[in-house]
Amino acid sequence: MKKFLSHIEKTLHDIDQAGLTKRERFITAPQSGQISVTSAIGVNAPPPRKMINLCANNYLGLANHPDVIAAAHRGLDDYGFGMASVRFICGAQTIHRELEQAIAAHLGKDDAILFAACFDANGAVFEPLLEEQDAIISDSLNHASIIDGVRLSKAKRYRFANRDMNELETRLREADSQQARFKIIATDGVFSMDGTIAPLPEICDLADKYGAMVMVDDCHATGHLGAGGRGTPTLTGAGARVTIVTGTLGKTLGGAMGGFIAAPQPIIDLMRQRARPYLFSNSLAPAIVTGSMKALEIAIKADDLREKLAHLTKKFRTGLQNAGFNLLAGETPIIPVMVGDAPMAQSLAAELDRLGIYVAGFFYPVVPQGRARIRTQMSAALNENDIDTAIAAFTEAGRKLKLI
Ligand SMILES: *Cc1c(COP(=O)(O)O)cnc(C)c1O
Repeated sequence: MKKFLSHIEKTLHDIDQAGLTKRERFITAPQSGQISVTSAIGVNAPPPRKMINLCANNYLGLANHPDVIAAAHRGLDDYGFGMASVRFICGAQTIHRELEQAIAAHLGKDDAILFAACFDANGAVFEPLLEEQDAIISDSLNHASIIDGVRLSKAKRYRFANRDMNELETRLREADSQQARFKIIATDGVFSMDGTIAPLPEICDLADKYGAMVMVDDCHATGHLGAGGRGTPTLTGAGARVTIVTGTLGKTLGGAMGGFIAAPQPIIDLMRQRARPYLFSNSLAPAIVTGSMKALEIAIKADDLREKLAHLTKKFRTGLQNAGFNLLAGETPIIPVMVGDAPMAQSLAAELDRLGIYVAGFFYPVVPQGRARIRTQMSAALNENDIDTAIAAFTEAGRKLKLI
């Protein structure tokens, strides 16, 4: 035991020496565009500071929306605090089924199934559908939960370089030459670290050519991208050619927690029978279900918030570009500011923290070595003033660190 713990301590020391330790700060009130933050709790804790939040997945600002909170209160009053059961034993309420149907209708699919998180939905989706003779062809930048889900299935695995259609075609041919029975191409709709969009029409063309299906994880799109917030299949025009969509309730749709798969009926029916994170994990809490339902209703109608989000995105992107920062190109509200190595990402984050801007440095293993960045994210909970302040702070910090 002692030997083992000192081994673990050595690992932690190595992480710290490499400048890779992640430290948490604490928000003292609800999630929003302007937040109150402290670096520690307890008697000697410094008083909380007001900060501008540029790193939440709170794209439409619904995490603290009064109607969402009221709906969650109603869920608590009418349906209680917790389910204390998995779905198939006694954990399914009418509201769970209503939310599934609303998600399916929103995404134009036959049906949907809820999970405790999209991490679970992605972990669940492949294993019941595919066997040894099948193939999964997965984008190299896919979210960790897709990578884990692929590992849990018995299907043969193929990987293609991020958004590289030539390599995708090569992998599809390889799978065919190895007599794959069924093939699924798996991709993020929006790549969370880069903020780029998957070329879904081209992916679907290749899927058609080689008789494959397409699965899209739309966590960073559902609710705020595409007409009506229907996500990247709608945004790119791929539409119903995408067979399976997974998504989260933990980002745009209220930001609480929960995930889902939306797909043709037989796929959802099999998930209810076989998906392990569904069968062996607790139901979503009623307040989360009713709050998320309200968030979905708001998001569907929120063209004004989507417009505001797009406007702030453009404004911030242009401001950083004019200041001389190295940004990854893209149109989503994810705007990565590239800085090179992990210590520089930490330094820039620390400078910005001092200036009242809440951001997080992203570095290995979350992104590849040497590709460290500050990933900023826009939100409809921010205002014009916040963006001006943030651009000025980035400029000051960037000059101090000789990044610009
Ligand atoms: C956030 C995210 C997930 C995980 O979603 P949770 O509901 O928080 O588990 C999965 N995939 C992608 C692409 C994500 O961005």
